[in-house]
Amino acid sequence: MKALFSAILAFSLSLLSSLAGSFRTVVIDAGHGGRDIGGSYGKVYEKWLALDTAMRVEKKLRALGFRTVMTRSNDEFISLPGRVKIGNSHPNSIFVSIHYNFTWKRDVSGLETFYCTGHSKPLADAVQRGMLGEVNSVNRGSKFARYYVIRHADHPAILVEGGFVSNSRERGRTKEGWYREAIADGIVKGIVEYNNLRRSGKVH
Ligand SMILES: [Zn+2]
Repeated sequence: MKALFSAILAFSLSLLSSLAGSFRTVVIDAGHGGRDIGGSYGKVYEKWLALDTAMRVEKKLRALGFRTVMTRSNDEFISLPGRVKIGNSHPNSIFVSIHYNFTWKRDVSGLETFYCTGHSKPLADAVQRGMLGEVNSVNRGSKFARYYVIRHADHPAILVEGGFVSNSRERGRTKEGWYREAIADGIVKGIVEYNNLRRSGKVH
């Protein structure tokens, strides 16, 4: 009986320590929405691409056992402070904002991921790597930026740009389900990789 108790205790302790650095909740923030359509070209609106990708990410994370929270699940306008408030209300979480890019320089294309704090950088690096492992794109890097939703986040937070609506080749791909599925796969792989780093104590 005593041996069994010690075995259970040892198992519980190892389980606790293995979970110590990990997080359980992913707050998924689909950029823009409602009257804010984001970047657009013709009928291709960033707000729709971001929401579709966010919903794919949500489904994949749930299948892996993560708890997920969506800042929006339909075409509604949510203020930037409103998004931050949702993210910060979930303890032991990370915040992943999903966007598609736009620039007046039409030849620019590729993927980039932004972070604002040192403890968010490993997450940004992992998600950028994850996306590039799934689609053949220009690597614009994992970079520092002071975007509102990542600047005001209490937890590790990143802003992902899954390709340029302003570039004709990339716009053609963002319109296709397989492409958004691949971007979602890459984001999820990055989140899993980052969670493993947290669990192993390599990042905090
Ligand atoms: Zn955007």
